[in-house]
Amino acid sequence: MTEKVISFHYTLKDPQGNVLDKSDESEPLSFLTGMGMIIPGLEKALLEMEEGENSTINVPSTEAYGERSEEKIGQADRNHFPEDIEVGQMFAVDEEGTNIVTITAFDDENVTLDGNHPLAGVDLSFEVEIVENREASPEEIDHGHVHADGEDVH
Ligand code: ZN
Repeated sequence: MTEKVISFHYTLKDPQGNVLDKSDESEPLSFLTGMGMIIPGLEKALLEMEEGENSTINVPSTEAYGERSEEKIGQADRNHFPEDIEVGQMFAVDEEGTNIVTITAFDDENVTLDGNHPLAGVDLSFEVEIVENREASPEEIDHGHVHADGEDVH
């Protein structure tokens, strides 16, 4: 299958209508399909859309950041943490910064850590506008990223 380069504006809302995230007004989000760069449920819907098209895409949590798992919640020794931690604080537990945990509670002895993605278990709604939907060049597919205006900026 031919991969595409899709650029789009989006506003992400939770089921209560709270805005969780949105694209920069001057710069749409561009991505190369087939690389797992965006959540699968959103990519699948965007592939069907034409340039200039607007739509609201509802992505169930199972096709977004997955269900919450109680197994990802655990406790660690309070001694391993700095003095000034706060509930809600997030930090990476690996060098790449992809594994994020959130402090959900702590006392003098233990810190409770939640390794679920903050959006795990949340059904997402994206209001999107397609700015560009074109075939990716062989070079882009080879590099695994988008070339803006045909230029390799990386
Ligand atoms: Zn490149």
